[in-house]
Amino acid sequence: MLEYREKAVLEVAACTCDRCGLRMSPEDGEWHERVSLAWRCGFHSVFGDCSELSLDLCQHCVKATLGEWIRVSQRDLGDGLLRLATYVWYDATDADAWMRCPHPELGGKTPYEAATDAVGAEQVEAILGRILHGIPT
Ligand SMILES: [Zn+2]
Repeated sequence: MLEYREKAVLEVAACTCDRCGLRMSPEDGEWHERVSLAWRCGFHSVFGDCSELSLDLCQHCVKATLGEWIRVSQRDLGDGLLRLATYVWYDATDADAWMRCPHPELGGKTPYEAATDAVGAEQVEAILGRILHGIPT
């Protein structure tokens, strides 16, 4: 028989952009696009030997400060979802068959058809997540 004790767990509730001061919380869209970095420098760092560094930026400040050097590409939504489906179904052939089958939660589209845009891809990913965790779809 297992016994349990209560344990307090802290989670990040908000993040403030170090550049512009924008406050981001999990309830808004900016939260998911923020960049938070934290690292320890080594010897000969321009910040000082073994310094601890951290930085939180909103997506607008990332673009404003680093935008010209950031490599932007669109991920192939279908390929990523096929990998996830293969993980869920344990078989690439079964996963591909599922991706080709119309799904009622996708308005009768197949997951491949739905995954041609980001919103549809998120819906497919959510369905796969529910299947993976045994939640009825
Ligand atoms: Zn900002």
